[in-house]
Amino acid sequence: MIPEQYMNQRVGLKGYRVLNLDLDGVCADYKGALRDYLVRHGMMDESTVPSDDRYELDRASGWPFDTFDDYIAAHKAAENEHLYATMRPIDGVAHAMQRLAAEHVYIRIVTHRLFVAGQHRMVVADTAQWLDEQHIPYMSLCFTGLKDSMQATVSIDDSPANIATLREVGQHVVVFDQPYNRGFDGPRLRDWSDESVDRLLEWFDDWPESEHGQAEGARR
Ligand SMILES: [Mg+2]
Repeated sequence: MIPEQYMNQRVGLKGYRVLNLDLDGVCADYKGALRDYLVRHGMMDESTVPSDDRYELDRASGWPFDTFDDYIAAHKAAENEHLYATMRPIDGVAHAMQRLAAEHVYIRIVTHRLFVAGQHRMVVADTAQWLDEQHIPYMSLCFTGLKDSMQATVSIDDSPANIATLREVGQHVVVFDQPYNRGFDGPRLRDWSDESVDRLLEWFDDWPESEHGQAEGARR
């Protein structure tokens, strides 16, 4: 049932608390899943722990990619083995989303997973299957890399480029903590604990403007 305060806003952004939620690096362990694929296929030694200080895998050390194209080829092959249907969730994410949904937060998943052409049907189907199997509730599922085209009350992302782009257009972005995004200030969640959900709910009602966090904090 929709609470009374949202009744007159069944359509539209204003009135609802809309959460634009990124998947990889926020809800799902993409890098871990890709690493598992590479180890399974003898492309990476089991003992290798790639560095986590760069978002781009072709620039971070420890990954077996000399070029961006090498990375894309491995990514595409892993996709074809249902990477997106089988990856590990980030700890606690399902419980956190269930709590937010129960609080009538409108969860909109916004993901750039269609960045490689040719296997879109598989990517979309595997993503939806994974979300169902993980019991992650959501109201809409958007595949776009143009994250600043999607307005929200609050967005959560881990990508330095996305955080910077969204903040440049004045959107409220919570940084989901990863080693490669520590150069940003402003609201940040380190995990999906109950304390994090409590904090996020507070930020929906009272965004900490003074800690907004500007793009110049970016380290790429
Ligand atoms: Mg991400």
